[in-house]
Amino acid sequence: MIESLHHLPHAAGTHAALSERFTDLAPALTARQAAIESARCLYCYDAPCTRACPTGIDVASFIRNIHEGNVDGAAVNILKQNIFGGSCSRVCPTEILCEDACVRNHDAEGQPVKIGLLQRHAIDNAHFAGHPFQRAPSTGKTIAVVGAGPAGLACAHRLAMLGHDVVVFEARDKAGGLNEYGIAKYKLPGDFAQREVDFLLSIGGIEIQYGRVLGGNLHLQDLHTRYDAVFLGLGLGASRRLGLTGEDAPGLAVAVDYIATLRQAADLAALPVPRRAVVIGAGNTAVDMAVQIGRLGAEEVTLVYRRGVEAMSATDHEIEIARANGVRIRTWAAPHEVLLDDAGRVRGMRFEETRLLDGRLAGTGAFVDVAADAVFKAIGQHMDAGALSDPLAGEIEREGKEGELRIHVDARFRTKLPGVYAGGDCVAPGQDLTVQAVQHGKLAALAIHDDILSKAEA
Ligand SMILES: Cc1cc2nc3c(=O)[nH]c(=O)nc-3n(C[C@H](O)[C@H](O)[C@H](O)COP(=O)(O)OP(=O)(O)OC[C@H]3O[C@@H](n4cnc5c(N)ncnc54)[C@H](O)[C@@H]3O)c2cc1C
Ligand code: SF4
Repeated sequence: MIESLHHLPHAAGTHAALSERFTDLAPALTARQAAIESARCLYCYDAPCTRACPTGIDVASFIRNIHEGNVDGAAVNILKQNIFGGSCSRVCPTEILCEDACVRNHDAEGQPVKIGLLQRHAIDNAHFAGHPFQRAPSTGKTIAVVGAGPAGLACAHRLAMLGHDVVVFEARDKAGGLNEYGIAKYKLPGDFAQREVDFLLSIGGIEIQYGRVLGGNLHLQDLHTRYDAVFLGLGLGASRRLGLTGEDAPGLAVAVDYIATLRQAADLAALPVPRRAVVIGAGNTAVDMAVQIGRLGAEEVTLVYRRGVEAMSATDHEIEIARANGVRIRTWAAPHEVLLDDAGRVRGMRFEETRLLDGRLAGTGAFVDVAADAVFKAIGQHMDAGALSDPLAGEIEREGKEGELRIHVDARFRTKLPGVYAGGDCVAPGQDLTVQAVQHGKLAALAIHDDILSKAEA
C-alpha cells in the first residue's frame, strides 16, 4: 500500500523502543482518581452531556455507579447504548461532545468532569461472567451486514440482541474497520480493537465472512434476494487526489494507507520513515499522520493547510497534540507542484500562498517551497464507487458533490431501495466520528427490526 516509500530509510531503533512511543496518549485513572472525579459530577437533571453524546449514554447515571463502587453497573449502562463504549472512551473528541456540554465548564473550576476517562475506567475494570446482554428469542430472520467497521458491527450486535441472525461480509481480513486500520496507534494501542470485536461477537448469532467485497465477489442483488434485510456500513474507502503532475511519484503517499500499514506492522523498525515530511490536510487524519511520523523518527514534520487554523477541522485539542509533538503548522498555502529530484523522487512541495478575496479562497501568486523526502496526502476520503456498481445498487440514491457522493438515507437509515439500510461514514448526514457510526448502526438495527415485524404482522 505504501510501495511509493520503499526507497526511504527504515525507522531508527528497535521495534520495542519505537513501540514505547505509541503507548496510551492519556494515562488511565486509578481507582482513587476515578472515585474523586466521579464525585465532581452534579448529576444534572436532563443532563446536557447525555444530549451531546451521539449515542445518548446516560452519563450522570454511569458516573453515579462509579461513585457508588458499582463499576460493572457503570459498564452495562454505557454498553447498552454504545457497544463500542471502550474505543469511544479513547477516541471520542470529548472536547466537542459530552465534556463540552458539562456544566462544570462554567463554575469556578472551569473544568469539565473527565467523562471520557471515567467511561474508560468503567469499561476497562468491569468483570462480566459472560456477555452482559441476552439475546431475545430467535426471530428466524437473517440480516446481511456489509462492512465490519463500527457502524456494521454496532448494527450486527443490536440485531443479534433482538433475536436475528447476522452474516457480516468484510472486504479485509480483520474486523473493526478504522478502529483496526485507521485510528492513531497511541489512541487504541496494542490489540484493543480486536479484543473489543471479540467481546462484541461473544453475544452469539453473528458470523463474519472475510475477503468478501461488495462490487467484487459479492453482489447486492444476491444479498437482497437471500437475506431478510441488508445493512451497508462501507465507510469511505477511496482517497481524494491532488490533481497535480507527479502525484504518483516515489515519495508521495496517502496518509490513511501509511497509518493502516503502521497499525498492522509487526516490526515498526521496518517502516520507511522520511527525514523531512510534509502532510497536506487539516483534519484529524492529517494531525494523526504528522504526529505518528514524528514519533517514528522524522526530524522535520510540516502540516500544510490552504486556509487558516480556525478553519481546520481537527479539534483544538488535536492541534495542541500536534504542536506538543513538534509538528510545524503552515497555513494559507495550497499545493501547487510536486518537486522531484533527478531520479524522479519527491524532494519537496511547492505551495501557492492563499488569502480570502470577497470571501473566496484565492492564490496570491507568491510561492513557497517546502523540502521533504515524503509528502502525505490527508485531504479527505470518499466512498469507493465500485462497491455500489451492480444494477440494483444503481437504485440507491446518493447525494453530495460529484465524485464525493454518499448514500442518501431517511431518518431511520433506510435507503431508497426497500430492505436496504446504510449508516456510518458512507451516508450523507454526520460528522465522520466513531461514536456517530455506532449510533447509525444501532438505529438502523432498530429500524430493520421494526420493519421486519410490521411486514410479518401485515
Ligand atoms: C486516520 C483516521 C483517524 C481517525 N480518528 C478518529 C478519532 O480519533 N476519533 C473518532 O471519533 N473518529 C476518528 N476517525 C473517524 C472514524 O474512524 C470513522 O468515522 C469510523 O470508523 C466510521 O465507521 P464506519 O463503520 O462507517 O466505517 P469504517 O470504519 O471505515 O468501516 C468500514 C468497513 O467496511 C469495509 N468495506 C468497505 N468497502 C467494502 C466492500 N465493498 N465490501 C465489503 N466490505 C467493505 C471496510 O474494510 C471496513 O472494515 C478517524 C478516521 C481516520 C481515517
Ligand atoms: S461515547 Fe463519547 S461522546 Fe458519548 S459520553 Fe462517551 S466519550 Fe462522551
